[in-house]
Parts: sequence; C-alpha cells; structure tokens
Amino acid sequence: MPAHPEPESGGSAGSGISTAQGAQTAVAVQQAAGADPYFPEHGDPRYRVHRYELALDYRPGPNRLSGTARINAIAGRAPLTEFVLNLADFRIGRVRVDGRQPHYTHRGGRLRVRPAKPVRAGAAFTVEVHWSGNPKPVNSPWGGIGWEELEDGALVASQPIGAPSWYPCNDRPADKASYQISITTPSAYAVVAGGRLLTRTTKASTTTWVYEQSAPTSSYLVGLSIGKYQTVLLGDPGLGGVPQHGHIPAHLLPEFSRDFARQPQMMELFQELFGPYPFDEYAVVVTEEELDVPVEAQGLSLFGANHVDGARGSERLVAHELAHQWFGNSVSIANWRHIWLNEGFAKYAEWLWSERSGGRTAQQLAATAHRLLSSMPQDLRLADPGRKSMFDDRLYERGGLVLHAVRCAMGDIAFFRMLRAWGQLHRGGTVTTAAFTAHVARFATEPVDELFEAWVYGTALPPLPGAPTRVAG
Ligand SMILES: [Zn+2]
Repeated sequence: MPAHPEPESGGSAGSGISTAQGAQTAVAVQQAAGADPYFPEHGDPRYRVHRYELALDYRPGPNRLSGTARINAIAGRAPLTEFVLNLADFRIGRVRVDGRQPHYTHRGGRLRVRPAKPVRAGAAFTVEVHWSGNPKPVNSPWGGIGWEELEDGALVASQPIGAPSWYPCNDRPADKASYQISITTPSAYAVVAGGRLLTRTTKASTTTWVYEQSAPTSSYLVGLSIGKYQTVLLGDPGLGGVPQHGHIPAHLLPEFSRDFARQPQMMELFQELFGPYPFDEYAVVVTEEELDVPVEAQGLSLFGANHVDGARGSERLVAHELAHQWFGNSVSIANWRHIWLNEGFAKYAEWLWSERSGGRTAQQLAATAHRLLSSMPQDLRLADPGRKSMFDDRLYERGGLVLHAVRCAMGDIAFFRMLRAWGQLHRGGTVTTAAFTAHVARFATEPVDELFEAWVYGTALPPLPGAPTRVAG
C-alpha cells in the first residue's frame, strides 16, 4: 500500500513526535529516529541488545529484589556517546560498560549511560548493571503493569511498558534478544519463566532457578511467576509434540484439568493452520489471585484464578493466549502502532478454534462482532489506533474481522497458505501493517488494496464480509 508509508527509522514518524510534543521532550527529539510513536520514552533505537543475562534474588516477604544484568549489545550506525536503558526507581549499585566505569544518571525510569569512551558505530559492547529495591508496577493508562507483588509470591506481566519495573532493558518491542534468567528465592516457591529450565539448585533455604530463552524475545514478553504451584503435564509430550506444562495452585487442579484439557488439540490445530509452534515449550500459569485479563509472555501465558471455572468458561482465552505465541511473540510488531497485528490475529484464532472444535463458525462470530461494532463509535483506525485505544475492544473485534474479510476474499486455501507463510517468513522478527498488506497482496489473485483501505486505514465500518449476498456467486 504505497499510499501509507511507514518509516521505521527517521522520516516522518520521528519528526511527527517532536513537532507534537514540542521542545519539552529533548529526549524525543534526540531519539526521534526510530523511537516508538506511542512511547517515545521507552527504548533507545541508537543500539540494540542481542542477549540479556539476569541474575536475580527475590524475597517475597519483604518484596525485595536485587539483580545483576549483563547485557550484550551492538551500537547502531552512529558512534554511541551515550545510551539509555529503561529501569524503574531502584537503587543502582554499579554500572560498567566493557568493564569500565561510565558516567550515568538515573531519573524518571531512565538510566542514561555515557561510556568513558564512545562505542564505535556497529561495535559490540557489554553493559553490566547492579540494582536493588522493592519492585512495584509501572503506572500506565491501563493501571499498574510489570512486577506485581501478590499475597504470596509475585507475577510479571508487562505489556506494553512494564518490563523496566524489574530489569534494565532497551524497552521497545522491536529490540528482540535472547535471555538467560537466574532467580534465587526461598525454596517453598516455584519460579516459572518462559523458556527452558536449565537447572534448579537448592542451597540451605533457597533455590536458584535458571531459565534459558534462546528465541528472540521482546522485553515486554519476558514473563515471570513466583508462587506455590503444582506442575502438571498437558497432552502427550512424546512423538515430537510440544511440551506443555501447567503450574497451578493445588486446589484449582480439578477445574484446571477440565478447562485446559483441549489445549493440546488447540496446539495441534494451530500448528496445522499457522505452521510449527515457534518455541521449544509452552507453559501456562494460573495465579492464586484474579487477573483482569490473561497475559501472554514468550513461551508462557498467565491466567488468573477467575479464568478457571471447571466449565471451560474461558476457553476462548486459552486459544487467544496460545495464538499469541505465533502472532505477537514470534512475529512481533515493529512498534506499538501495529498492535492490531497481535490482537486481531489472536482474536481470529479464537474464532478458528471455535469453528474447528464444533462451536460457532467464524462467519457467525464475525457477524456477532460486526453487529457489536456497528453499535459503537466508528472513529478507530486500526493502522494507527493511538496510544489510548491500543487495547480497545473495538481493535480486537475489528482486527478479527480484517482477517475474516481477507479469508472471504482469498478463499481458504490461499488464506491459510498466506497465514502460514507470514509466520514462517517473519519468525523471530518484526513486522508492520504495510508489510502485512504487501504480504497478502502476494497471495491474492485479486487486488486487496480496497479491502485494507476500508478495514485497516479507514474508520467507518465496512459491510460484513462473507455475507450471503457475496457468497452466492
Ligand atoms: Zn491478546
């Protein structure tokens, strides 16, 4: 769609930010090239990280966290005289860049580091940060997000900007890195992080859990749960299946066993429809407390006690979170403006699961969504919903409808071929709306420009796709 260019670095995205906010944010001006349009204070596009090694110690009683981060990064196209890591209000113990002491300031959740010697353009460098304090959620328009102290344990769900509540990071979704996370905590607690559990070592009264996530991971998708859980295996791990574990408070086990019984079938269906599962394993945690909504993390999803009822009352959410492993986690958005590519896809996966598991068809669910949207204000533009509307229900429903419209226009064979190719081509990478529309165009036999113009770039609600009048021919 050449009519809608999306500069990913420099260009109008950056100058738009600095014009809109004026001189007050020197930061935004400085970082204009490639800064996130919705969260210019998060992430520093002047460098990228390829690996984080976090060694944490957490005491649930006093809610005390101390950590050491070893961050392997690469400078961008310009020499790096300074760079920023996002980190909430902790006490900073020590900072090193390539082993040398830099100058740094820590204010407003931003650790600004000026190396003793500028890092050469394109050069690799290592940052070491020690920090400690009482972690708490980051304030956001959607309430507190990030590290949350529970009555007996802790939980991290960071979408979109909660990651700095517990570790220093280049906090933008496009900066994907591998992670090794080591957490030491009293032995009564289980630690669940996304990725493979490498070791678990008990010494005296504490246990150290070491997880490795080798797949490229956005900072907001590093999930964590510390609690008292029983661990169960879902499905059959043999025959090359994806290992799936549940971590649940023991008293919720009967409900959980019913509610998540069909997740292995979902996994099978989604692999058929979307391509191979992108990670080595999948874990779900059900916390002792309630959560407004379940949250996806890399190789992991977090549900609240309110999402299990023993009657599969939240099964669509089980499908939704699993689908995010392909759409959002493996294939990630270049910046938050493109969030419909995460949520619209996960919504449509709910409908596909329903259709293929004997529930309502995608067409019926699309009709319901369409009716709902037609009764609501039509001022949301999927391609750029604005920060306030990132998690608006309308974005989810309309996002699902876009995929249904594309499917109706292309037919099932081309549609699913297109969908699988999308997951494969961009596995571990980042995408934009323009990349998706161009991708669809390559698989479609008829032009799709008008479809995307109306559904994704426009605001008025187009007619329900696949309605009988159109199917007749
Ligand atoms: Zn979602």
